[in-house]
Amino acid sequence: MTAASPAQPAFSICVYCGSRPGTQAAHAQTARAVGRWIGERGGQLVYGGGRSGLMGQVADAALAAGARVVGVIPQSLVDREHAHRSCTELHVVQTMHERKRLMAERADAFLALPGGIGTMEEFFEAWTWRQLGYHDKPVGLLNQDGYYDALLQFMRDGVRGGFMDEEQMRFVATGSQWQPLLEELIHRTGFPAPMRLGAV
Ligand code: AMP
Repeated sequence: MTAASPAQPAFSICVYCGSRPGTQAAHAQTARAVGRWIGERGGQLVYGGGRSGLMGQVADAALAAGARVVGVIPQSLVDREHAHRSCTELHVVQTMHERKRLMAERADAFLALPGGIGTMEEFFEAWTWRQLGYHDKPVGLLNQDGYYDALLQFMRDGVRGGFMDEEQMRFVATGSQWQPLLEELIHRTGFPAPMRLGAV
């Protein structure tokens, strides 16, 4: 049964993740756990609006747990990424730029789960916008089972090579466990730690 979604969510988090399921069952399990966590704490999920891959898993789990789910998808991807018509709000926009802008506006924080080229592009944009001061929202990267080890190593090489600095690195919260990372992101927003709804 789908729980009722709160009109005023406790927080709003944008999740970037693969439009494919990947080969590791643990990644899909995590996507579902993240969606459930958001719903159980009265939060709102903002995401790319598709039903395919990890994106669909996080959205389905969030909806089932009572989250508001805001999907934003370009018209050209409605069929390819199977637009999720059950979203609380589904915005079909004209361009990828509109999609990214709206997703960024509607979120208090950003979290990238394992994903492919689109996920990485979105993560890097949220990060670069943060370091340029276009927004002041926390950005997280879930390095589950070392999926992003090589990328994180490359980022550290960028610091060693003098093209990046530690302050830029501090704008990204990373971790291998999804729940502490989510809690850290919410903490960085300055919102109170969200309680599990119905918990005593
Ligand atoms: P992927 O990680 O490649 O499976 O893609 C995850 C999501 O990122 C999908 O919804 C893609 O449509 C989206 N995406 C792909 N390219 C971009 C881009 N340049 N900017 C924003 N999102 C993108």
